Amino acid sequence: MRVSRSLAKTLRQDPGEAETASHRLMLRAGMMMQVGAGVYSYLPLALQSIQKIEAIIREEINAAGGQEVLMPALQPLEIWKQSGRDVAFGDNMFHLFDRREREMVIAPTHEEVITLIATSNVESYRDLPLLLYQIQTKFRDEPRPRAGLLRGREFTMKDAYSFDTDEEALDVTYQRMRIAYRNIFRRCGLPTLEVEADSGAIGGKDSHEFIMPADSGEDTVLVCPTGDYAANSERAISVIFPAPESPEGELTLLETPGVKTIADLVASMGISEAQTLKAVFYAADNAIVLVTIRGDIDVNEVKLKNLLGVRDLRLATADEARSAGLTPGSTSPIGLTSIKRIGDPSIEQGNNFVAGANQDNKHYKNVNYPRDFEVDTIAPIGTSKAGDGCPNCGAFLDEVRGIEVGHVFKLGTFFTRTFGGDYLDDEGKLNPMVMGCYGIGVTRVLAAAIEQNHDDKGILYPAPIAPFQVHLVALNADKEEVSAAADETYAQLLALGYDVLFDDRLGESAGVKFNDADLLGLPVRVVISPRNLKNGVVEIKRRRAAESTQVPAAELSAAVAEALAKDEN
Ligand code: ATP
Ligand code: MG
Repeated sequence: MRVSRSLAKTLRQDPGEAETASHRLMLRAGMMMQVGAGVYSYLPLALQSIQKIEAIIREEINAAGGQEVLMPALQPLEIWKQSGRDVAFGDNMFHLFDRREREMVIAPTHEEVITLIATSNVESYRDLPLLLYQIQTKFRDEPRPRAGLLRGREFTMKDAYSFDTDEEALDVTYQRMRIAYRNIFRRCGLPTLEVEADSGAIGGKDSHEFIMPADSGEDTVLVCPTGDYAANSERAISVIFPAPESPEGELTLLETPGVKTIADLVASMGISEAQTLKAVFYAADNAIVLVTIRGDIDVNEVKLKNLLGVRDLRLATADEARSAGLTPGSTSPIGLTSIKRIGDPSIEQGNNFVAGANQDNKHYKNVNYPRDFEVDTIAPIGTSKAGDGCPNCGAFLDEVRGIEVGHVFKLGTFFTRTFGGDYLDDEGKLNPMVMGCYGIGVTRVLAAAIEQNHDDKGILYPAPIAPFQVHLVALNADKEEVSAAADETYAQLLALGYDVLFDDRLGESAGVKFNDADLLGLPVRVVISPRNLKNGVVEIKRRRAAESTQVPAAELSAAVAEALAKDEN
């Protein structure tokens, strides 16, 4: 591609609205344009990367036995009512009416339709296992579209669905898909962590996420340095530090004027957070639930939501808490019987806690469970954090922030039972097919790649997903000998099979061209200039290297191959 002919123009200034590096750099590099909140046009530089990512995904999913299909985004609401997921997706799903006033949706995912496809095509165990996939546009009315392609309302996903005879067969497929995913991200040049994940409302047994470490990520992952454990914090179960224990004291009411929070308690009493209990009140599908947890640990709302099996969970307001008999600022499980009470196991790790008393300006000391209060259920609903112990080996866990780029998931028989997805087994009996599902956010992978690979000058593409491999720059291109040599080099590199972006612009300075090359971040830059021509050399520089080198013009092709190979290692 000749830059003089190319659609996209780079911006000199950072766009104001960009929140993260990928968003900022993709707009500056002319890769995409916003059409509406969370909705973008992909211009050539973005599309070429997306197509390279898709090609790698196709090869690996085909190698795992996948058959590609393409399902519609536009779907009748009825099938979503049948699965009950119109309610589960709620406002995240786009709805519309057709001219006959029939309600339709624009699909956020495709379990319903793929199950209908498998149901009408599979008869017996001989047709199984089956692995179907598509690379297609998804629509989700995200409450907070964010950071360009990281969280869009229209985005590209690779979604795959497997159908097996039983759980054991599903396990084989599931493990094969995990390997395919590892291959995909390795071949893209993108280090990812494979972590245990929450499997959500319909969740089957196993679920793993592929997380790309990046500071701007929304996910927190707990990783054991010995390599024997990695889990999303929504799922992680870690070993917490014991709080100091002492002989059980007598439950005593304290005057605590002005003390409203755990921080106030800690400051006024000179104790550690781990010597306090906090009681947090939630509205769970409109019922008030009280959660008691050790003061140094935060409640994890995903774990709590799964435990309660509710659709909506939020912190209750002070008024809601009061009407449920609680005293905000001194909420306490002590003496409370009228509402649902959940306890985290941490309330048993330590004793003689300071806790609320459900009375203004008062707290209790020497609070001990179960001597002084009851809960209905004890279940782990705390948030794991760095420094907690690994559940497998006890080593201190590290905390890593990252971006979820892929998710694999054992679904079980929920959809096949709903849509009559039975097959005949070898004894002639009908059984529901057992499903798995596997997603990769293709457009999110591109944004995440840039989050992970950039510096203050611009993008640092991993070679396999760069829109072009080589950035050929002609300096003083208005000089006859330069343009002739550069044209020749361009033709030579294309003939060798490289994707080349050729900055053939007349009248742009070396500074402008080099800044653009750094901004676009293609792996290898080749410079043709009057001075190099005189010396019979070309200048070659890897985007990731500090220095450029000069090679004899005749050795250019070997030098480019070597530079790209360095990037791929
Ligand atoms: P998230 O928790 O980030 O909202 P999710 O768990 O809802 O994602 P899945 O339903 O598991 O997403 O979708 C599969 C993959 O699609 C995700 O792993 C992610 O890479 C991608 N994805 C999901 N939502 C978006 C979005 N709004 N924009 C871009 N990619 C997305
Ligand atoms: Mg997910």
